Amino acid sequence: MIMGSRRKRPTPAESDSERQRVARMRAPLLRELQASATCVSVKLTFAVDTRLEQETRSFEIHPPARAYFVYPCAFGDCNGRHDLDVVVRGLLRTGATQASGALQCGGHRSGGVVQGARCGLGLTYTISVQLDPSQTGTNCQPAATT
Ligand SMILES: [Zn+2]
Repeated sequence: MIMGSRRKRPTPAESDSERQRVARMRAPLLRELQASATCVSVKLTFAVDTRLEQETRSFEIHPPARAYFVYPCAFGDCNGRHDLDVVVRGLLRTGATQASGALQCGGHRSGGVVQGARCGLGLTYTISVQLDPSQTGTNCQPAATT
């Protein structure tokens, strides 16, 4: 509780995205978490759904980037998030390089036929960590220089 705050009370959605922003900002850099990791690649494959524009999303995190692995649901009106932070940090801690699994969105959708319906969108994830820069066969690309 913040005493004496005259700020407008944020809506749940606003405070949630603010929390995410702060959490991302405070996340350690990848190189701080695991000095020998040169790239973490995350691929999300969402369950086939005609309402989705894209079924897969890929992310690559390089050493100077924030090691924050929480991704929003593929549905724009859903407040669900897929938290892979624990999985990735587990990999980095143990030196393992691969993990995969399945998740189901636990968020609620504000739009659609049923207001506030539970989303339940299924997805699978694949995470690979590149530890040695001389390693071959990686699916990580050099950081874009734009
Ligand atoms: Zn969702």
